Amino acid sequence: MHRPIKSWENLPLPPEELERKREKLQELFGEVLTTLGFDWKRDPNMVDTPKRIAKMFLEFTEGNFTPMPSITVFDLSEMEKDRVVGNIPVFVGPIEIKSLCSHHFLPIMGNVYFEYIPESKVLGLSKIPRIIKWLARRPIIQELFTRQIVKTFLEILNNVKGIAVYVKAKHMCMTVRGVNESNAYMITEAFYGLYKENEELRANFLRKIKE
Ligand SMILES: [Zn+2]
Repeated sequence: MHRPIKSWENLPLPPEELERKREKLQELFGEVLTTLGFDWKRDPNMVDTPKRIAKMFLEFTEGNFTPMPSITVFDLSEMEKDRVVGNIPVFVGPIEIKSLCSHHFLPIMGNVYFEYIPESKVLGLSKIPRIIKWLARRPIIQELFTRQIVKTFLEILNNVKGIAVYVKAKHMCMTVRGVNESNAYMITEAFYGLYKENEELRANFLRKIKE
């Protein structure tokens, strides 16, 4: 027994609108290169660069204009609830993410670890990484992104005993410029439900990440 549900009512962008967006971006990135002092139209290595950058930024931000991947939620019967679920955490990770930071529009690369404790609904497993990757495809602030993952899965499951999220990522705005610190990671966590009260559950979740 399952039903697909959709959250975040993004409608798919019509192809002609997407093409208009790409053309506009291409034009603007051309202006950026000109402003930076490059004679890009006459440089064979740069002549298509505004086009490439436009496509790349559309790829980096596609979560903003594509619908959330549909997710399969399985309802458990009364019998299965007692027999199968109990308090069994379901762990998924590492889930690789590629994103952009809202402050500098430079890449963020890292891993997300996700765990939840079902109540009467369980998720189709492969859909968890799909949704997390989709959430990452837009400019983010890692702290808010971590909480957004919890919020989104709460919305999808609407009854769940607990959710735990751990994000470990490198921010290019810190590694290639500014402080130039290439070994530092940013780590953020968010907990909901049983994880808030139960230290052992939290410790077990964090132990799985280190394995
Ligand atoms: Zn940044």
